[in-house]
Amino acid sequence: MQYFKRQQKQQTREQDVQEKSAVNSSKRILIIGGGISGLSAALWCQRQGLQPLIIEQTPRLGGQLHQIHLPLVDYPGFKGTASELLETLVAQISEQDIHYRLGQSIKHIDYKNNVAYTENESLTYSALIMATGNRKRALPQLKPFMGRHVHMTATGVIEQLKHQHIAIIGGGDGAFENALLLAPSVNKVDILIRSGQPRARQYFVEQARRISNISLHYQQKVQYFKDEPTFRGLHLAHSITGEEQRLECDQVIIKCGYTPAQELLPESLLPPENGLQLDDQNIWVIGDVRNPIDPCMSVCIGEAARASREISRYLEPIG
Ligand SMILES: Cc1cc2nc3c(=O)[nH]c(=O)nc-3n(C[C@H](O)[C@H](O)[C@H](O)COP(=O)(O)OP(=O)(O)OC[C@H]3O[C@@H](n4cnc5c(N)ncnc54)[C@H](O)[C@@H]3O)c2cc1C
Repeated sequence: MQYFKRQQKQQTREQDVQEKSAVNSSKRILIIGGGISGLSAALWCQRQGLQPLIIEQTPRLGGQLHQIHLPLVDYPGFKGTASELLETLVAQISEQDIHYRLGQSIKHIDYKNNVAYTENESLTYSALIMATGNRKRALPQLKPFMGRHVHMTATGVIEQLKHQHIAIIGGGDGAFENALLLAPSVNKVDILIRSGQPRARQYFVEQARRISNISLHYQQKVQYFKDEPTFRGLHLAHSITGEEQRLECDQVIIKCGYTPAQELLPESLLPPENGLQLDDQNIWVIGDVRNPIDPCMSVCIGEAARASREISRYLEPIG
């Protein structure tokens, strides 16, 4: 609650400041996305004497940090939860007087003239940091059962799922984290993994293997949901042998991966393999949008630091 109040206050203050003092547009760094990548990039840019402005489409900062519910164990130098980490990050943003806007989405970018457009505003920039993360992939065949038997996440519906048999589709962090959260209160959890091995962090997988009511099923593809008025479970096919089977379950959680939010990138340019800057232009791509296969917060903040330094050199070349 305190966090939201602070966010609202900050939003208002940001608009006041904008009205009073024109931003030195030769140093304005537009950061699209208020997840850990965008927030870290803003902190680093501020330290470089640049003027970051974060645009976040949802009503709150944090991006995927809001989806991590187990304590963090692989973020060096920090012990705690993702929400504690976010609280600290937001406090730092506030202390540094960094400007951000919530609930505004960048819809279009005129790369030639360095202008980005929200629904009702145009924002000029000297350099752009794309930190748009990724989006959840949905399965269209699940639509008829959404909310009643099918959910995009277990959090928020844990009570509804109590004592039931749950199938989780997916083999990444989200799938395993949800399985670990649910296991103590449900009868059984089946994790359906499309490939031969899970993508999730090793310690999630090891924990899940030790819990007796969690089972892992490999090479399982969800064919379709039975077209029946009453939900009866899933129809599966083995992705190598094609062998079909029906999995009886009460509820399904979809955690079948993410797709990078790259819609705003210029069509001809994809994120570089190793570098962060797009083809010598004033565009940097950082975090999960660049690296959706192996998402990691430490990589996000490292890329944020690197991008801000590169931008600083790019805007004020020596000599
Ligand atoms: C369940 C789960 C557990 C995880 N556990 C760990 C862990 O233990 N350790 C670890 O290192 N990593 C973990 N990760 C991965 C980590 O959370 C991500 O790598 C990291 O949070 C990605 O940050 P990001 O800022 O790049 O992207 P995101 O957090 O996805 O942020 C992108 C932001 O951009 C905004 N946005 C997108 N498009 C626009 C637009 N057009 N205009 C304005 N805003 C826009 C989005 O709303 C979003 O807020 C986990 C992830 C999940 C889902």
